[in-house]
Amino acid sequence: MKTLREKIDTWIFDLDNTLYAADSGIFQQVSDLMGEFVSKHLNIDIVEAKKIQSKYYKQHGTTLKGMMDNHGVDPDLFLEEVHKLDYSIVGPNHKLNEVLDKLEGRKIIYTNANLQHVDNVLLRLELLNKFDEIYDIKAANYIPKPEIKPYKKFIEKFNINPNCSIMFDDIAKNLVPAKNVGFTSVWIDHGYENFSDDIKSSEKYLDYKTKDLSLFLDKVNKGNI
Ligand SMILES: [Mg+2]
Repeated sequence: MKTLREKIDTWIFDLDNTLYAADSGIFQQVSDLMGEFVSKHLNIDIVEAKKIQSKYYKQHGTTLKGMMDNHGVDPDLFLEEVHKLDYSIVGPNHKLNEVLDKLEGRKIIYTNANLQHVDNVLLRLELLNKFDEIYDIKAANYIPKPEIKPYKKFIEKFNINPNCSIMFDDIAKNLVPAKNVGFTSVWIDHGYENFSDDIKSSEKYLDYKTKDLSLFLDKVNKGNI
């Protein structure tokens, strides 16, 4: 059997909670700002807004999609507002950057966030300009993972051969369509389930699981996987 190094020519990475630690607090900031946006926009109190935020996340894949579908919210305004973050709490993981640098092939970021957020995070991670392509929510016509449509657009846009591609994501259900379009899948296991995630129904779509992305990629580079 071929090693991943031999088989894979395109490495696809989710951004948040995949390329940096889930405990950074960034996600909490986004979540708080989304609650505030929903509250302000729908003119309801924050408790009610948090319920709607969570409901839309579960039913529409992102709170944004729910706000667009149900309330005609301008996606760019929403994304701008909820990404007014304190990025200083994110910092580089030198070990990860080193193994990423050694990976042979194309490296692409596939995220449900927007380009400005990607740039801000990559800057802090010292990974700016280290990726060949970035596929953000705008490029995906605001249709979030795990809907399969944007995966197909992604493949077409970057002329990808799914059989030679691997996708890393901390949300297991995002790897279900990844597997269905033919990617190899790697779940970043943070030791707890994402609140929107349903690990049991996604389990059979996960080719690999790792608690440490840099360790996994180090093994890949050494031809051990
Ligand atoms: Mg993520």
